[in-house]
Amino acid sequence: MVLRRTLLAASGSGRLRAFVSGTRLTRGVVDRFVAGERAEDAVRAAGELAEQGLLSSIDHLGEDVEHPSAAEDITKGYLHLLRLLAEAELTSSAEVSVKPTALGLGLGGEGMQLATDHLSRICAAAAEAGTTVTVDMEAERYVAPTLRLVAALRADYPWLGCVLQSYLRRTEGDTAAMAAEPGSRVRLCKGAYAPDRATGYTERRDVDAAYVRSLRRLMDSEAYPMVATHDPRLIDIATTLARRYGRTYDGFEYQMLYGARPDEQRRLAELGARVRVYVPYGGDWYGYLVRRMAERPANAAFAARAVVRRG
Ligand SMILES: Cc1cc2nc3c(=O)[nH]c(=O)nc-3n(C[C@H](O)[C@H](O)[C@H](O)COP(=O)(O)OP(=O)(O)OC[C@H]3O[C@@H](n4cnc5c(N)ncnc54)[C@H](O)[C@@H]3O)c2cc1C
Repeated sequence: MVLRRTLLAASGSGRLRAFVSGTRLTRGVVDRFVAGERAEDAVRAAGELAEQGLLSSIDHLGEDVEHPSAAEDITKGYLHLLRLLAEAELTSSAEVSVKPTALGLGLGGEGMQLATDHLSRICAAAAEAGTTVTVDMEAERYVAPTLRLVAALRADYPWLGCVLQSYLRRTEGDTAAMAAEPGSRVRLCKGAYAPDRATGYTERRDVDAAYVRSLRRLMDSEAYPMVATHDPRLIDIATTLARRYGRTYDGFEYQMLYGARPDEQRRLAELGARVRVYVPYGGDWYGYLVRRMAERPANAAFAARAVVRRG
């Protein structure tokens, strides 16, 4: 828990980011969890996953942009990526995931308008390419504005997916609201950000129990549940709940991160399930990678070994 808190604090540190990102020692770790620096690398990864019967959701790394021009660059990156996916005829298996703060949501008064405009351009390009978009959920202060952003965009793009995080106490209410929208694409995860005692669950068992309550709500609705977890217990529970509520394998999907439990991804796909892999790419991998280490000490040990090997 102490390691997790320390790492989550480190994920927001600018000085540490500059130091770690500047060393070549971290390369091995980056390669395991990130598809590459360029959009072409992500498209190649999506193609390889498709050959294994796996779907993908591609994330252009970057978050908490500090200037509108960075949000514009990231938006253009997504438009380029969507063009490449269409050219490679991968849009039936690959969609994109987007972080609102990468589109400028955190930029004070103009943030909401900026993020709305950028997300709207990305959704239009995705519609033209024949695929979908899912909006990631970030730190708690962005949850309410992100839900407003999604609600606004869903008027034109009802297929726009949204992430909900079970570590937040509010999420059961948000899940109920989304479950009431037929076809609503909801990616349920535990949450990768530091919990606040007043508004979130700090104990793993409470986060897991809340996950199951929200998952049951989604399975027992006309929404489309996207079960984003590597947790074997929760995967089993999802399978049981899907059966109980009469969902066939095309009525929900499992989702996991690129580089995490690849054997399990293939095993579920071979059973006939829809399995989507979240594929990050780009140079701004620092925050993403530190969150992966915070949630799984084995990932931090893997990073430490890579450093020792090269040191
Ligand atoms: C597709 C996807 C999208 C996500 N999007 C968001 C988002 O928008 N916002 C957000 O806050 N978070 C997001 N997350 C991260 C998520 O919130 C969790 O932080 C992350 O998935 C770790 O939680 P877990 O459910 O996998 O289980 P954990 O509680 O981390 O682990 C539970 C158990 O699962 C097993 N396990 C976990 N990871 C591994 C592994 N790599 N290899 C082998 N076994 C493992 C172990 O047995 C472990 O004890 C996303 C996750 C996924 C999969």
